[in-house]
Amino acid sequence: MSACCNGGCSAEKPPVGRRYRRILWIALAINAGMFIVELFSGWKAGSVSLLADAVDFLGDAANYGLSLFVLAMLPVWRSRAALIKGITMGGYGLFVIGTAVSHAASRTVPEPVVMGIVGFVALLANVSVAALLFAYRNGDSNMRSVWLCSRNDAISNLAVMLAALGVFGTGTGGPDIAVAAIMGILGLTAARTVIRQARTEIKAA
Ligand SMILES: [Zn+2]
Repeated sequence: MSACCNGGCSAEKPPVGRRYRRILWIALAINAGMFIVELFSGWKAGSVSLLADAVDFLGDAANYGLSLFVLAMLPVWRSRAALIKGITMGGYGLFVIGTAVSHAASRTVPEPVVMGIVGFVALLANVSVAALLFAYRNGDSNMRSVWLCSRNDAISNLAVMLAALGVFGTGTGGPDIAVAAIMGILGLTAARTVIRQARTEIKAA
């Protein structure tokens, strides 16, 4: 749930070139696939931090989708798409926080091994996408956003792995809930920024 999901990490400029578009398609597929993997395994393993981490893949998949489709459209449609994305992310953030509260109340202990493995796979997915985008980056200005986006994503994935270690060590769900709560709050803050910006843009249009 990093900032890059919201401000358009590689989505700022229209993609140029067939090869770069193909990379965006691959990035879209990996992120959409990992969203489903984390959502499913987070729910199965009872881990809120995995559920929280999933939203970043959804946000990034949306960004790559926007790069491929919406950037060719009128700016007002781009702003409307951003508004929908912001509202979706905000809703998901609330869902994560609600789930964290319910897990805390029911003292749910997640499966740390599943958390650790999926967290590691998520890290590999993010690193692979970063390497692809970096190799086929569309101009120098994207270098920095790719770097910032990947760094934030990697921090989230490592936080899940750390939470898994904490759950394993303590035998409680506390570390999972703590990590998820932080990610959920960051996600809500980011969603608010996106919604505000999109509404300002729509008003101005
Ligand atoms: Zn991201």
